[in-house]
Amino acid sequence: MKIRMKKSCVYCLISLALLSCTAADSVKPVAAKVKNVIMIIGDGMGPQQVGLLLSYARQAPHSVIASRTTALDRMMEQGRLGISMTYTADTLVTDSAASATQLATGKFAGAEMIGLDKDGNPQENIIEKARLMGKATGLVSDTRITHATPAAFAAHQTHRSQENTIPEDLLATGADVMFSGGLSFWLPEQANDKKSALHQQLAQMTGNSIEIKSSRKDAKNLLTIAQQQGYTLAFNKAQLQQATGKTLGLFAASGMANGIVETQNRGDALHTEPTLKEMSLQALKILSRNEQGFFLMIESGQIDWAAHRNDTGLLLHEMLRFNDTLNAVLDWAENRQDTLIIVTADHETGGFGFSYSGVDIPKPHTLPGAAFAGGTLFQPNFNFGNPDVLDKIYAQQLSYHDIFIQFDKLPKDQQTPIKLTELVNRYTEFKITEAQAVKILATEANPLYRAGHMSLGEKTVPKMEVNGAFFVYQKENRENLLAQAVSVSQQVVWATGTHTSTPVFVFVKGEEQTMQPFAKILHHTQLGRLTIDALN
Ligand code: MG
Ligand code: ZN
Repeated sequence: MKIRMKKSCVYCLISLALLSCTAADSVKPVAAKVKNVIMIIGDGMGPQQVGLLLSYARQAPHSVIASRTTALDRMMEQGRLGISMTYTADTLVTDSAASATQLATGKFAGAEMIGLDKDGNPQENIIEKARLMGKATGLVSDTRITHATPAAFAAHQTHRSQENTIPEDLLATGADVMFSGGLSFWLPEQANDKKSALHQQLAQMTGNSIEIKSSRKDAKNLLTIAQQQGYTLAFNKAQLQQATGKTLGLFAASGMANGIVETQNRGDALHTEPTLKEMSLQALKILSRNEQGFFLMIESGQIDWAAHRNDTGLLLHEMLRFNDTLNAVLDWAENRQDTLIIVTADHETGGFGFSYSGVDIPKPHTLPGAAFAGGTLFQPNFNFGNPDVLDKIYAQQLSYHDIFIQFDKLPKDQQTPIKLTELVNRYTEFKITEAQAVKILATEANPLYRAGHMSLGEKTVPKMEVNGAFFVYQKENRENLLAQAVSVSQQVVWATGTHTSTPVFVFVKGEEQTMQPFAKILHHTQLGRLTIDALN
């Protein structure tokens, strides 16, 4: 009898457990509702890029993060962490357009699509949904507003390259604030004529703070259409800070300043281009006036650009720009119960990592510990990397891209390996030799170059130092090769010039019930749906 009772009790417990499991599985995780959602996307900010920020904050001898605490540490104080897979409908790896589409719509997309599902049907995005709910909406990016990530949150196009039609989509969707670069895609072709009245009028409107040029091949003036739709226009920091309502802010002809330039301009009153942090704070100020709440997407978009070029110093400054922006958003949200903050990436870029090597192995030395008493020397077999390298990475004065811009401006007969050596050694702490510069410059005929003005077999293809198949942007191959030249001294390896499939982090901060569904292994379509659910 005793035994039988025990048996039935155990049976009861098992069936109860089974019952509760089935019940839990059949209920899909639904995020609780919040008034405001802020999604911050680090483009290309995989776990490796997050790792660079954390290594720098914690280990750099002279870290500019005096507290050694990053904004991501703050996210985790009362936040939750999930991870998310980023692949598209039919591919292993994603690009930014498909990834942002999946986040913005919760539907699988195809590579390089903007706001369409995998079959090519336009799908309602979170901006459109939030507007129907009566919420205010905003897009902020330090790239340009027509670029893949912001575009996929508010446009519907078959390919990300359609940047001349994306502005019309953006206006049709009508987010209340759009702050970024990319003015050239909004101006009629005639603006290129410096003598025209239009050119002069635009120069005056922008306070001469942006180069006036058009990337369009037609006479459409999208700025005029924006004004007709009730947008106030802003082109510099002063105009941004006066903005109170529906505002289109275009602060650069194409991409905004890179992270190194932003670091150097910080505190410079004469600098007219706003920072990502300034744009984000102004967006919050405007959007939070809506009593129904808001959805805001902020992109730290040049993390990806630095990583494509394998430019570690620039990448660190991009991560610091992201960190500054997130800190400001966290300060804004402090003590608010009505806001959910989601920080994620669209994918990882470059396959970055610090790595140990067999070069410059530290000399054996004594240690005070008991196990080393009696003369045994501490002698690891490899060079595991000195944290001093982090300060040297921070000290880079010019991006690799800008170093090559300077190089390309030299008269042709001066574009020599020795000149490149001088430039690299002037602006970075990781010196190269003339022999290395010779190899870096032997890149002119990568047959995989996609820009179209170089055909296969036109020149003899020199022996590539990088695996050409994964370094598809030919002009940047010089930068990838420079990265490889300093790899040993930086203690850094890069796997590719494109993206990887590495799952990305999902940091969330808000009310417990709201955060809980995000703390899982997700796919970006699920992350998108959870974000939409949280607002709905
Ligand atoms: Mg992007
Ligand atoms: Zn990319």
